Amino acid sequence: MTTTTLINPADETVIGTIEHSTLEQVDEAIVRATLAQIGWAALAPADRAAALRRFALAVDGAIDDLAALEVTNSGHPIGQARWEAGHVRDVLNYYAAAPERMLGQQIPVAGGINVTFLEPIGVVGIIVPWNFPMTIASWGFAPALAAGNAVVLKPAEWTPLTAIRLGELALEAGLPVGLFQVLPGRGSVVGERFVTHPRVGKIVFTGSTEVGKRVMAGCSEQVKAVTLELGGKSANVVFADSDLEKAAATAPYSVFENAGQDCCARSRILVQRSVFDRFLELLEPAVKAVKVGQPGDADTEMGPLVSRTHFESVAAYVPDDERVAFRGSAPAGPGFWFPPTVLLPASATDRTVTDEIFGPVVTVQAFDDEADAIRMANASQYGLSGSVWTRDLGRALRVSRGIATGNLSVNSNSSVRYSTPFGGFKQSGLGRELGPDAAEAFTETKNVFISTVD
Ligand code: NAP
Repeated sequence: MTTTTLINPADETVIGTIEHSTLEQVDEAIVRATLAQIGWAALAPADRAAALRRFALAVDGAIDDLAALEVTNSGHPIGQARWEAGHVRDVLNYYAAAPERMLGQQIPVAGGINVTFLEPIGVVGIIVPWNFPMTIASWGFAPALAAGNAVVLKPAEWTPLTAIRLGELALEAGLPVGLFQVLPGRGSVVGERFVTHPRVGKIVFTGSTEVGKRVMAGCSEQVKAVTLELGGKSANVVFADSDLEKAAATAPYSVFENAGQDCCARSRILVQRSVFDRFLELLEPAVKAVKVGQPGDADTEMGPLVSRTHFESVAAYVPDDERVAFRGSAPAGPGFWFPPTVLLPASATDRTVTDEIFGPVVTVQAFDDEADAIRMANASQYGLSGSVWTRDLGRALRVSRGIATGNLSVNSNSSVRYSTPFGGFKQSGLGRELGPDAAEAFTETKNVFISTVD
């Protein structure tokens, strides 16, 4: 049996070993899920709702526990990790309302009654990345369970601990055995088996665009439904007429949160040329004020990168100081620490502008006018998130409509609310998670005609 040794990214100590699920174990889990789903879907909607609320309550009681695991396994700051655990509870509570609201339609037709039913798909396979291990998992499993499905979940190899704990909490809360199973292991084994197994009816994949394309191709073999949440390289567009102080003060948190390991990171700041120098003057102290430190300290705002491999990938984008405008701080000593770094790229085709670095590195570029801002924001294969800073409401709306991206904030950098839809344009993804319609994405619409002709 193969294993992964888990390393604390803040100090490089070994925190444990995780055994990988084998192909046989995955197949057995899918059989268990298939059986559990039948009973789950047959429950009264109110009983499914109650079970999900009990699961939410169990998560609420384990917030400290879950947060501590994420601090040690992923290097997330404790304040952020506690928010993440609370978010899982909130997502479960939100979708606990769904079983009793899976409304079909009654459509007027000749000769009878025509109704639609939202039938569960069956078993849903969820594959998650390492950057937000528990929140992203919940965006899939909560609405999938609410819609009457069973779930098999593969956490990322480096960060399985919170997902495993959530699987235990589901059982402690009384969810049926086999309904929600967490299967740690390799993407190329466990993840691929979800894709190829005929009993798994839908895949929810969050991760890199490269692997997402493979998953989509694999799903096409069985015409399997798939939701993809992929990479991003989002723009933070700052106009001269904005509250420049606020835009600059908040910009570091729009990209350096979670050490930049955030698909919604605004990793390209675009500033109108007339205020470019002033913006940089304001940005520098804000970047230097970001509290980078031990994840367990309550006032830490940014922790380390997740692993040595990832640290090396990020560091390769900043081989020297040539294009560095300024940097924040980072602790010395062991751990995968990389300081917040602001670059002035040589050109718009520089790979620091085009690639998703997925670390605390941001580029700042100048634009001339509204059309130029939209053109530059759209000069990316990705389209996940972004911000627009302006006091002109008409411009805010024109630019928001002009940027091809799934989630935009005006005069704010917020990205994710469980009650609003989330997902990407272009190569950032396919389909939407969260929001009022997410549970429906885990159903098949069935149409039934009932003749009333005598
Ligand atoms: P990744 O390498 O694509 O891995 C994501 C998940 O897929 C992991 O669980 C991985 O397992 C698994 N996997 C790998 N190969 C697979 C295969 N052949 N078949 C099925 N599953 C496979 O991505 P990552 O490096 O963990 O995460 C970072 C990426 O996720 C970034 O691009 C980021 O933008 C994106 N992301 C997107 C969103 C969004 O909502 N749009 C949110 C967060 C992150 P292993 O761990 O075993 O490799």
